Amino acid sequence: MIVDIMNCSAMAQEPILYLDYNATTPLKPDVITVMTQVLGEVGNASSIHAAGRHARKRVEDARAQVGRSVGVDAKQVIFTSCATESNNTILRGMSGKRILISAIEHLSILEGGVPAEQIPVTKDGVVDVAAFKKMMATGDAPALVSVMLVNNETGVIQPVAEIAKIAKEAGAIVHCDVAQAIGRIPVVFTELNADFLTLSSHKIGGPQGMGATIMAVNAPLPKLLQGGGQERRQRAGTENVAGIAGFGLAVEQAIAGMNAFQNLSKLRDRLEAELRRLTPGLIVHGVKASRVSNTSCFTAPGITSETILMNLDLEHIAISSGSACSSGTIKPSHVLLAMGVGEDDARCAVRVSMGWNTTEKDIDRFLSVWEKVTTRLKK
Ligand code: PLP
Repeated sequence: MIVDIMNCSAMAQEPILYLDYNATTPLKPDVITVMTQVLGEVGNASSIHAAGRHARKRVEDARAQVGRSVGVDAKQVIFTSCATESNNTILRGMSGKRILISAIEHLSILEGGVPAEQIPVTKDGVVDVAAFKKMMATGDAPALVSVMLVNNETGVIQPVAEIAKIAKEAGAIVHCDVAQAIGRIPVVFTELNADFLTLSSHKIGGPQGMGATIMAVNAPLPKLLQGGGQERRQRAGTENVAGIAGFGLAVEQAIAGMNAFQNLSKLRDRLEAELRRLTPGLIVHGVKASRVSNTSCFTAPGITSETILMNLDLEHIAISSGSACSSGTIKPSHVLLAMGVGEDDARCAVRVSMGWNTTEKDIDRFLSVWEKVTTRLKK
């Protein structure tokens, strides 16, 4: 996708080839339309007058859209300000109890303010179920087990239903972060057998600063924000009606576009085959595991990710090293280290993540710039 970023950055003057959809996505055009409409309206969704009732309808329509996307009733959806808030809230409710999380969780779980034991992953980036069973058999039964459905850095799909079954048999609450899974693979709450899910709006063409927690009926969701009756008294604060309406439409469109999104695997496979040809020794992380269609994380040994990112940026191509939240730091990715990738190779890993607008031509352009840049850097 070629993006004109002049609208959002005075510094950048040229269109860019955007291949960083796992960091954030462009807003879908219909989402912009509905949000623009709502931003022009007035009304607090808690007010009883007509303007308030209209805002309430916007919120409840979106709640139903989000609920349908994972097969739950609207009343099981709690809107939050982001997936980070949802993740932090669930963890903090279990503070002081035994918590197991996978070693490749997003930092909003890993550094969510509550100590937890880490379940290791295999070298392919899949949570190690055998190791998990051993952890379950040792010590007290955990109060909470949290494993994401799709890893944001490698795109590797995790065996959440299997883990949830084992965890539930021991009486644990199960949480699953599906921020990178929605619209990419089917996500059905009851099939995952979880008590909580976490969603993020800006990974699927919705606005930034919107998330949702999906909860099983009567699951013990702690209250991070208090002092208002919003969101069934689970999360105080005036609802962001425009954001919620945009999120609702985005999730509906993401589900409708899932088959097309899955076709991106053809572009990804071609990208990886060509990269291997152009860069002998290239390592594709998680390649042997089941992955979502849009994500490719790879290392060109000897060229640090920062160097690649800077050189591609000069060519107006946007990709990422590891997760966006940790870019800007030079720490190697915790996900790759957990997979047993050596520090040097982890420091050279970059992530291309495509989206619904990515075309064959975009991949051609990426490959031609990659060849130019890496040939120059190797000299
Ligand atoms: N969980 C995963 C798997 C993510 O990839 C991200 C964002 O990169 C988050 C949580 C945090 O999402 P948000 O930006 O909505 O807080």
